[in-house]
Amino acid sequence: MTTIEDAAAAVRDTGGELRAGGTDIMTRAARPPVDLLGIPALRGITWRPDGSARIGALTTIADLLADDRLTAAYPALAATAAAVATPQIRNVATVGGNLLQRNRCWYPRNSLTCHQTGGDTCPARDGAHLYSAVIDQGPCIAPHPSSLAGALLTYAATAEVHGRDALDVADLYGDGTDPTRDHRLDPTEILQAVLLPAPTPERAAYRRATAREMAEWPLVEAAARLTFDGETITTAAVAVGGVARTPLLLPEVAEALVGKPATQETLAAAADLATARCSPFPQTAYKVPLLRATLIDTLTACTSPTP
Ligand SMILES: Cc1cc2nc3c(=O)[nH]c(=O)nc-3n(C[C@H](O)[C@H](O)[C@H](O)COP(=O)(O)OP(=O)(O)OC[C@H]3O[C@@H](n4cnc5c(N)ncnc54)[C@H](O)[C@@H]3O)c2cc1C
Repeated sequence: MTTIEDAAAAVRDTGGELRAGGTDIMTRAARPPVDLLGIPALRGITWRPDGSARIGALTTIADLLADDRLTAAYPALAATAAAVATPQIRNVATVGGNLLQRNRCWYPRNSLTCHQTGGDTCPARDGAHLYSAVIDQGPCIAPHPSSLAGALLTYAATAEVHGRDALDVADLYGDGTDPTRDHRLDPTEILQAVLLPAPTPERAAYRRATAREMAEWPLVEAAARLTFDGETITTAAVAVGGVARTPLLLPEVAEALVGKPATQETLAAAADLATARCSPFPQTAYKVPLLRATLIDTLTACTSPTP
């Protein structure tokens, strides 16, 4: 398979599922794979005349991290990418596959009946939901698994999907009310690239709280980008993951930071606005203080110049 059109046709004809690095689909009952790896149009990191970057969907997370210009230009993305999974997974996992991976909820992963497997219930709500969402967006409470998505939201990145106009990365996910899907692309739609705006100076950070040191999706994660005039925060973009059905940008948190000095009181008051969104389930109550602490930690890290 060497063209996007051929891959889309193969999915249509076979009822298959696109495969990039394969690290997600090989761990679940996926449909027959249709390989993307032979398609040159999906490869490569390029720079546009205005200084902005285009990251091909097949770029591995390791290749992203190996690109010094990219990591210097987009430090929140670089810090996030460096924390994903393990070096072995990062060598194989692609940016496109990361954004479009399926969630990790035990129920659909084990082919049990739920919204995602053709049922009309979310058994996690009354069942095992230790790792589930703490911000309740809709019928399904599986948290979105993509770490890169949150970082890309803070950059207002866009997604280039074959055959359509570029869409905001946020629109890849919607508002979380569709319990059946982790993203809004149809099975034959192919993500070609992620487009970032031209870089500007910023202080950025990414932090995660995990159940073990590596090789694990975070319980809670946060990415933030701040700019300063002296001690005063002049712009802010903050996103969180592990807490909702979609990766979430938190405009109210950003708004609470802008125009203020970056004191611990300012950062804590902003983080409190994030926890105000939470309506935890019995087993996810622990995520509320974890979200607050992770956000404060991330924002505090932004108050030092990005190394
Ligand atoms: C131990 C472990 C720890 C992990 N920790 C993290 C973590 O902390 N954070 C995190 O974000 N992820 C984590 N992951 C997940 C990992 O990052 C993803 O499995 C990986 O990024 C998926 O990329 P892939 O190229 O292998 O995707 P694939 O498995 O090939 O595909 C994943 C999905 O995306 C679709 N797809 C892929 N490319 C395209 C495209 N171009 N257009 C349309 N559809 C496409 C496929 O059809 C499939 O449904 C972890 C995984 C493991 C095993």
